[in-house]
Amino acid sequence: MNAHPSAFTGQMSSVSSNQMGKKTSVKEDVIKPLAVWEGSDRIQESVVDTLTIILKSNGCSWNGCRMCSYRHERYTPTEGQNVTEHMLAQMLYVAQNYDYTNRPVIKIYTSGSFFDKQEVPEQVRKEVAKQFEGKTLIVESRAEYADAEIISDFCETLNSDDPLYVAIGLESSSDVIRDRSIHKGFSFDEYKEATKRVHKAGARVKTYLLQKPAFLTEQEALTDMHRSIVDIMPYTDLISLNPCTVQKNTELERLWKQGSYRPPYLWSVLDVLIKAPVHVSCDPLGGGKRRGASNCSVCSKTIVDGIYDYSLTSDRELLHSLAEIPCDCKELWEFVLAEERSYNMPLA
Ligand code: SF4
Ligand SMILES: [Zn+2]
Repeated sequence: MNAHPSAFTGQMSSVSSNQMGKKTSVKEDVIKPLAVWEGSDRIQESVVDTLTIILKSNGCSWNGCRMCSYRHERYTPTEGQNVTEHMLAQMLYVAQNYDYTNRPVIKIYTSGSFFDKQEVPEQVRKEVAKQFEGKTLIVESRAEYADAEIISDFCETLNSDDPLYVAIGLESSSDVIRDRSIHKGFSFDEYKEATKRVHKAGARVKTYLLQKPAFLTEQEALTDMHRSIVDIMPYTDLISLNPCTVQKNTELERLWKQGSYRPPYLWSVLDVLIKAPVHVSCDPLGGGKRRGASNCSVCSKTIVDGIYDYSLTSDRELLHSLAEIPCDCKELWEFVLAEERSYNMPLA
């Protein structure tokens, strides 16, 4: 669901971490998670040390979003081992190889939905809660799997003051954009109902927004993010902005290769962050590269680094100073905003 590095690069053998994180390589031929890395995140008003674990699971049951390659990452049973044993072995590897005693927040991604029983067997879910008792966990789930009873039991076992954030990839508050540009398969109303169930179960909600999925102009994508942030504020505790990346083996990659898609400009990403009424974190994965949000080769790196810093510090002055960097490509971006016309997709 979220933008994790292995899917973007198409390599499962190594990952990069955020600015404060440590790089860790994980080979595929023994039972280990797809990737594990240490880093830092801003949660509410604090910067905390985190451990991020990407587990190989049964894979996303929806398996249908136009821009997503995570859905290709799924466990294929081998040599008599079932997925439960395989996932428990990955958890054991983490316990034996990482000291997370002083890391209060653990992020677990499964390339799908943690609360989907078809994807993550119940026994694994229970083991995760036991292993990380006392911690704050962040896991991802599609709206339909956010079951109040399951989440409530999970929080009870975690037994911490702030046990759980359920991260939901809503992507946009517009049902038309979510359906046509992403093919996400659930509505804004279903998301709202899911957030109520999560809160009722004693957990919090983190919401991912996706800036510039397929078929939108730069300006349409910008307007969509401005509106989506305001629309979701009553329902979510944290917001994370993902500038869309071109992942391998996706429909979006096909559009990109035929010249029908360009990831968002970093100027647009800055504009969204600056105008957001609340702090919105942002991980511009692949930023400055052809497959990620980018401006020109002169200014992209400075802006990407600045956005990472902003995500941790929430320093609005930094955002304003980045937006004021003089660069020739800003004029091009302004021209694109003014002149680009919509993709001619039939409405019905
Ligand atoms: S719900 Fe969509 S974005 Fe999330 S893992 Fe499944 S296919 Fe990918
Ligand atoms: Zn530039």
